[in-house]
Amino acid sequence: MLHNSARAIDMKLHLHSQTDPRRHEQEGPLIITGGEGVYVRDDAGRRYMEGMAGLWTASLGFNDARLAAVASDQFGRLANYHTFNHRSNEACIDLMDQIASVSPLAPCKIFLANSGSEANDSMIKLAWYYQAARGKPGKRRIISRKGAFHGSTVMGAALSGLPHMHRSFNMATDDILYAGKPHHYREARPGESEEEFVDRLIHELEAIILQADPDSVAAMIAEPVMGAGGVIVPPQGYFPRLRKLLDKYDILLLADEVVCGFGRTGNWFGSQTFGFVPDMFSVAKGLSSGYLPIAAVVVSDKLYQAIADEGQRNGVFGHGFTYSGHPVTSAVAAEALRIYREMDVVARARSLGERMRTRLAEALAEHPMVGEIRSVGLIAGVELVADRATGESFPAEARVGARVERACRAHGIILRNMGDVLALCPPYVIEPEQIDELVQALSFAIEDVRDELE
Ligand code: PLP
Repeated sequence: MLHNSARAIDMKLHLHSQTDPRRHEQEGPLIITGGEGVYVRDDAGRRYMEGMAGLWTASLGFNDARLAAVASDQFGRLANYHTFNHRSNEACIDLMDQIASVSPLAPCKIFLANSGSEANDSMIKLAWYYQAARGKPGKRRIISRKGAFHGSTVMGAALSGLPHMHRSFNMATDDILYAGKPHHYREARPGESEEEFVDRLIHELEAIILQADPDSVAAMIAEPVMGAGGVIVPPQGYFPRLRKLLDKYDILLLADEVVCGFGRTGNWFGSQTFGFVPDMFSVAKGLSSGYLPIAAVVVSDKLYQAIADEGQRNGVFGHGFTYSGHPVTSAVAAEALRIYREMDVVARARSLGERMRTRLAEALAEHPMVGEIRSVGLIAGVELVADRATGESFPAEARVGARVERACRAHGIILRNMGDVLALCPPYVIEPEQIDELVQALSFAIEDVRDELE
């Protein structure tokens, strides 16, 4: 174990991301000291299978040797350069090529950033810039959705439809409109079919647009599968209908592929799985297997042409980050994409996902504490309920999801609970038998908590 003082220093100094600060002062950190394949180790030497790939990030596990070698090599050749004012570097150019080769938008232009939040902020700025370029600067409002997570910057958090992301932050959300969440299990009316549910969501959204005035709405942003909102897999007909509605009112559709990108839903991108073509999309996390902070926005040619003309009128396109196109992060991301292609990540996510779906159904479909198991590709959510027949939730203060998450660790796996939903998003390098172990450990953990509750 690390010297006790490491724990004490963390408890004393570290204001943790997305953590209850007072609870942290009492309970302290889980300190991870090493990683190998799908496993990580803590400072007491305990080994866990990481069923969430960290934060939906480490698609290639926790110590891929090729990514380490590429980073080291790039550090030795050119450790820093920028991309302002026409500058570029070989690693960043290689990455452009790699992203374009899998992009569903072709031709496209690619803007680089450092995090999912920055990429989403950039999409909003690009949408505004585009609307101004077309002589429609009044088109400013952005539609997001209840339950969405788009990041923690000022705009990322404002776009997020999660109450804890807004509470007490005095957020500026005047220009954001929040549409309904496409979650049939929780949001459908009694007896409403998936088709009827989608129909209602689309009509409700149309009413929101008309009330706001379509000429005031620039774009809608959406995750193909909502991640942090509880792994919400939308009904198949939802996105094509959404796309059609937005086209009717001349509103852009921006896909947040930060979680879904690079194979996760069983296609290269979630937009392909759910049958729509966005005007631009953001990627991060899996882009570098989470090894270094990097993100990108892929922009359709139509938007780019208008943005480029506007940039020329302004003398410069006035947006970008010091580390946009950083050579080391770019080199690692380009290599990660090369590895994804070599391993045929799409086929792998589909076959591993099928195994995960089958095992989850076998172990938990009839469990009295499980209300819904939802999944697509290699991502799944298991929603725990107090009453399976009625779908009644546990009281929030019982913290049932958090207790199951803790019990998972006792069984040697790490998952993430969002309220009472347990998310599974393992690295693509997981083996089929390890999927079985992961699901078995989760069902043991649920049983443990069930025993405590009785
Ligand atoms: N978008 C989605 C869908 C996410 O899940 C996240 C992070 O979890 C973000 C955006 C924000 O990414 P970052 O934390 O890299 O800013």
